[in-house]
Amino acid sequence: MLTVPAYAAPSATEPLVPTTIQRRDTGANDVLIAIRYAGICHSDIHLVRGDWGPVTYPQVVGHEIAGEVVEVGSNVTKFEVGDRVGVGCMVNSCRECENCLAGFENYCLNGNTQTYGSVDRDGTITQGGYSTHVVVNEDFVLRLPEEIPYEAAAPLLCAGITTYSPLAHWNAGPGKKVAVVGLGGLGHLAVKLAAAMGADVTVLSQTLSKKEDGLRFGAKDYYATSDPATFDQLANRFDLIINTVSAPLDLSKYLGLLRLDGTMVNVGAPAEPLPITVFTLFGNRRSFAGSGIGSIAETQEMLDFCAAHGIAPEIELISADAINDAYERVLRSDVRYRFVIDASTL
Ligand code: NAP
Ligand code: ZN
Repeated sequence: MLTVPAYAAPSATEPLVPTTIQRRDTGANDVLIAIRYAGICHSDIHLVRGDWGPVTYPQVVGHEIAGEVVEVGSNVTKFEVGDRVGVGCMVNSCRECENCLAGFENYCLNGNTQTYGSVDRDGTITQGGYSTHVVVNEDFVLRLPEEIPYEAAAPLLCAGITTYSPLAHWNAGPGKKVAVVGLGGLGHLAVKLAAAMGADVTVLSQTLSKKEDGLRFGAKDYYATSDPATFDQLANRFDLIINTVSAPLDLSKYLGLLRLDGTMVNVGAPAEPLPITVFTLFGNRRSFAGSGIGSIAETQEMLDFCAAHGIAPEIELISADAINDAYERVLRSDVRYRFVIDASTL
């Protein structure tokens, strides 16, 4: 066992506090990673505040992890000490179900082991990346391309793959009109990725306050959803809408923006159910879909795509004692565009 510094949530209502946690010994198929940086995802906040159900506290979150391999188990073949690596939202899966066998560990039918808040094989609750070290089975470790610095790589491990996967699956590319709802951590990467794929990208944000940024990230158009005229102007326009909003939206308004056979994909994960008016789906034979992170192979593909296209998140580096302030800013939609914790300050 290794005792390491971490930041943990003591309950749903208290600020995160410094603590120590134990990491298991590096098993035969494991690598021990010295974490350099960890991104703050809105999912971290949803989970620690109990939005998604009961939590066993204290809980360390963080599933955007970038660091260096410092020890490998005896059976490890993919990694060596010194390798630059990443870990995203999952650290294991059953490896036996239909979806795992098809290479979709993110859709494991027995429930994959999440990087935090899951019951691990040894019965303990997994603890996430707001810590200095983590031990992970090598099959769930990603290789960071040399071109991507550690701190920029971290947010790609969740925000990057969660937007890349639906964009790739629904064929964002030349000739396709793609709208991204919400210009936060996921949203700003969705804009950069969709633009790099060749799609015609529009941002739908609450206000026009981040318009210059959105256009700089590659969007051609930018509209405020607080202006009712937006929904008339853009009716029947998009092939694909990626909704990254962390709060409930009036979906029918957004579904009305889809053209014939268009799809709206929800990646935002609000606590509340989202009602749909089915008649809006009948018009234009529209689809409403969801998407959860991406497989390990697709995550590697996304990292390589980002390296090839020079895509990196816009980050604000913080020390560990600023995590609670960062949470408040994320909750106020005042994030530009991902907070990343410097693990050396833990
Ligand atoms: P974030 O950085 O907070 O971005 C969310 C954006 O949504 C905000 O910046 C804001 O953009 C917009 N927004 C927030 N509240 C709103 C409201 N009440 N009405 C309208 N728009 C609002 O969050 P994130 O880290 O990108 O995560 C976004 C969501 O995706 C979270 O729910 C998270 O749990 C979920 N998620 C899902 C997966 C998956 O696998 N499906 C993976 C990761 C995260 P504007 O200021 O531009 O309006
Ligand atoms: Zn996340």
